[in-house]
Amino acid sequence: MDEWEAAEIFPAHEVFKGLGDLGLLGLTKPEAHGGMGLDYSYSVLMAETLGFIECGGVPMAIGVQTDMATPALARFGSEELRAAFLAPAIAGDMVSCIGVSEPGAGSDVAGIRSWARKDGDDYVISGQKMWITNSLQADWMCMLVNTGEGPAHRNKSLVIVPLRDGQGGRLTPGIEVARKIRKIGMHSSDTGLIYFDEVRVPQRYRIGAEGQGFIYQMQQFQEERLWAAASCLQSLTHCIDWTIEWAQQRKLFGATLADQQWVQFKLAEAMTEVQSLRALTYRACELYVAGQDVLELASMAKLKAGRLNRSVPDTCLQFWGGMGYTLENKVARMFRDGRLASIGGGADEVMLGILAKTMGIAKRPQ
Ligand SMILES: Cc1cc2nc3c(=O)[nH]c(=O)nc-3n(C[C@H](O)[C@H](O)[C@H](O)COP(=O)(O)OP(=O)(O)OC[C@H]3O[C@@H](n4cnc5c(N)ncnc54)[C@H](O)[C@@H]3O)c2cc1C
Repeated sequence: MDEWEAAEIFPAHEVFKGLGDLGLLGLTKPEAHGGMGLDYSYSVLMAETLGFIECGGVPMAIGVQTDMATPALARFGSEELRAAFLAPAIAGDMVSCIGVSEPGAGSDVAGIRSWARKDGDDYVISGQKMWITNSLQADWMCMLVNTGEGPAHRNKSLVIVPLRDGQGGRLTPGIEVARKIRKIGMHSSDTGLIYFDEVRVPQRYRIGAEGQGFIYQMQQFQEERLWAAASCLQSLTHCIDWTIEWAQQRKLFGATLADQQWVQFKLAEAMTEVQSLRALTYRACELYVAGQDVLELASMAKLKAGRLNRSVPDTCLQFWGGMGYTLENKVARMFRDGRLASIGGGADEVMLGILAKTMGIAKRPQ
């Protein structure tokens, strides 16, 4: 783990193969393609369990494979597409990534510029995708791309774009990894800027109906956001538990740090917040499993997760003193890794914007 953090990449094919062999990459995916056909509560449990890994980068990479790049493919992909890309992703033979964000459009998903023109039976894709997790190793990308004219919510499609030929093989002609992006946290996870220059992909690699990509992606985001909330429950709990252990043995002013009521109260409050997020996430999951639209609750859970990923490690780090400011400290790693939660997968303000609409405070677009 520490070696992967230092290398700023982890061996995704090797790790995913191990997970695939255990059946852990397809818990909620159709049995016909090697999944287990379980309901979404199992994904939430898996995300929570990944919090035992003492870094954020590896769980996030796994979450991309299971809950961000594959839900729409599993739900709307053709049999051919699912056999070629979903089944190997579930088996751990292929690594996937999700390509929504671009240099000019992150929060404003409708504003993406990547473009696919039709040529015979193919799409010919040009554009850029930025911040793409797993993209230095991924075999394929679930790419949101403009495939037509018209309103921005109805002119996009999700297309499976093969990035590489075999494990770590040659890049598809026209694809260039422009840059590996270095980050303040999530070090073991590789993040890339990818260029597409006239990349030829069969039109039958499109997921579902043409022009429905924005809608499919918004649905896919619900699972991504539930996953994001669930994935920090265990790691935040660890952060508090490590800090309690530390405070109980750290001596100062003739007592332990944990004897200070301020420390006791701050940690008790932090754990109360984490348990509140757990309850909110489980409630959203319960309704999602029951077939309800959970846009509002999933957005609330994602927002709360973003907030707590900043406040809890910050509270804990303070009590470690200088030790908390060292690179090798586990709480310091959480402090860096957790900062992403308020930005990635929809920033806090995007969640608040959704809530303002679902609560009827802000006007919905006509
Ligand atoms: C480590 C990492 C991994 C990522 N992995 C992926 C991936 O695998 N695939 C992918 O497609 N993308 C990925 N992303 C991209 C991520 O989803 C975007 O960074 C995010 O959506 C924000 O977009 P942006 O960076 O373009 O910021 P912008 O959209 O420019 O927003 C900047 C800031 O503006 C504020 N803001 C936004 N909207 C509003 C509003 N309505 N009102 C007020 N303030 C607002 C927010 O504070 C936001 O942080 C990743 C990002 C990072 C950093």
